[in-house]
Amino acid sequence: MTTNHEAFARARAAIPGGVNSPVRAYGSVGGDPRFLAGARGAYVTDVAGREYVDLVCSWGPALLGHAQPDVVAAVQEAAARGLSFGAPTVGEVELAEEIRRRVPLAERVRLVSTGTEATMTAIRLARGVTGRDLVVKFSGCYHGHGDALLADAGSGVATLALPGSAGVTEATAAETIVVPYGDLSAVEDAFTRYGSQIAAVITEAAPANMGVVRPPEGFNQGLRRVTAEHGALLILDEVLTGFRVGPSGWWGLESGLDPAGDDYYAPDLFTFGKVVGGGMPVAALAGSAEVMDQLAPLGPVYQAGTLSGNPVAVAAGLATLRLADDAVYAHVDAAAARLSAAVHRALDDAGVPHVVQHAGSLFSVFFGELAARFSVTTYAQAKTQDAFRYTAFFHAMLDAGVNLPPSVFEAWFLSAAHDDVALGRIEAALPAAARAAAEATT
Ligand code: PLP
Repeated sequence: MTTNHEAFARARAAIPGGVNSPVRAYGSVGGDPRFLAGARGAYVTDVAGREYVDLVCSWGPALLGHAQPDVVAAVQEAAARGLSFGAPTVGEVELAEEIRRRVPLAERVRLVSTGTEATMTAIRLARGVTGRDLVVKFSGCYHGHGDALLADAGSGVATLALPGSAGVTEATAAETIVVPYGDLSAVEDAFTRYGSQIAAVITEAAPANMGVVRPPEGFNQGLRRVTAEHGALLILDEVLTGFRVGPSGWWGLESGLDPAGDDYYAPDLFTFGKVVGGGMPVAALAGSAEVMDQLAPLGPVYQAGTLSGNPVAVAAGLATLRLADDAVYAHVDAAAARLSAAVHRALDDAGVPHVVQHAGSLFSVFFGELAARFSVTTYAQAKTQDAFRYTAFFHAMLDAGVNLPPSVFEAWFLSAAHDDVALGRIEAALPAAARAAAEATT
């Protein structure tokens, strides 16, 4: 058996920073990342044989819990039939149909392998359809690592405190207009100045990559109004929220699904990822037939992928969505409500100023007086929090056998497998972690 320390040292000699995705490196919290050897239900096990209750859930996909037996069986059956064909399969059609059943606006669905590909393609499609170049995004929103969308991004870009990325050309960066999240008048100003050049506004359906920020009432509907007035597309990025916060994602919760309803709005394009692949590399781009049919082979906007719609990955996504019924969402909602209340209580008891913010079953904790007094609505505010308190909190939880996201900017994820025992173990660890956060110094 190896230790995490040994594994990390070996990894750093072979892999940049020892990881294949930056946030995994524990850069902002310090210490050795846990190298995982297995995961089942609500638990993960590291290479040293230690078990943790998991609140990362593979950064979202594990809605049913890790290695859900029916999902694993579906994957094994698919693998036995062949790993990849490079030809269409009926499974892809079934997954597209399942997405459309949940999100009726998804008249056409193109499967890709990562959320990044989905948002990258959405931008290209919006540009192709409108014949315009500019894109509006919000600071603190993360849409994957495509060149056009890294400016002032959340997730790992926020964790590493980067304004964007080296290697993105100035010309590309100049085609992205970055606006404070939630500020509809700033969006309107951008359209007043550049309206005829803006192809699309892209927004996280509910931001969860600068910590969790619930969209202000009517904000997404307002984006729909402004974009429609100016002939631009609205891209709702549900890579993280899609099929996780509810059967039809954040859009389903917020729009009420009824076109005649007061809160209803219709984005042009949706992007999905994470849960839609059930832990395997599947993501999707979806929208009206009119827009989506501009993709190759029907239309002039090119997009392709050797492993797109991979049959084994599709089997995992399809099995996951078929099992993700109302009872699963009700369980995850209740678990999130119970755990977030317990976190709040523990931090209050220890005298740690904080606010716990929710968007459906997603939640995260912001530390600091300002956050506690005013709550957090923008990335600028999220960045001013007392991140050092999270570092202490994170390590105390880890020592007690709870695996939290290794960054204060990430959401906490629960699953259908987080039962009373798993939640109880987390709750038992909270008071000491809250005291560690109270005692932390910069
Ligand atoms: N969009 C959102 C909202 C995300 O949270 C993420 C990843 O966390 C992405 C896009 C990128 O997805 P992927 O990491 O699969 O490329």
